[in-house]
Amino acid sequence: MISFTLRCGKDHEFEGWFRSSDDYERQRRKKLVVCPDCGDTGIDKALMAPAVATRGGDSGEATPAEKAVRMVMAMRAMRGFVEKNFDNVGPQFAEEARRIHYGETEERPIYGDATAGEAKELVEEGIKVGQIPWIEETEN
Ligand SMILES: [Zn+2]
Repeated sequence: MISFTLRCGKDHEFEGWFRSSDDYERQRRKKLVVCPDCGDTGIDKALMAPAVATRGGDSGEATPAEKAVRMVMAMRAMRGFVEKNFDNVGPQFAEEARRIHYGETEERPIYGDATAGEAKELVEEGIKVGQIPWIEETEN
């Protein structure tokens, strides 16, 4: 079983449990995934982002990137900021966060998809991840 943090069209967030990622997609397509707050079936995964993986121990000192992240989280234009400043690694998020943490690749802010289980594992390894609701762009 895996769990996803899901978000409906009205920005309600809730946790959904599925047998697999495919199972989630199948149920979502059949509109079997329903928001418990409003009954909306326009469900999407809330993406895991942004994450800042830093090498070495946790000094308790927030890096400039982390400070930016906190500031940005309060902003409505969060999505645009993340897309512009963070590297989208999509479903490779957990793997890439690990590689950054262990110094195997360039240190940079990244964002992408992660399951709740993957996020928990990253946190347990001391890798900083944050979860933000992914605001859809409205163009009207
Ligand atoms: Zn809802």
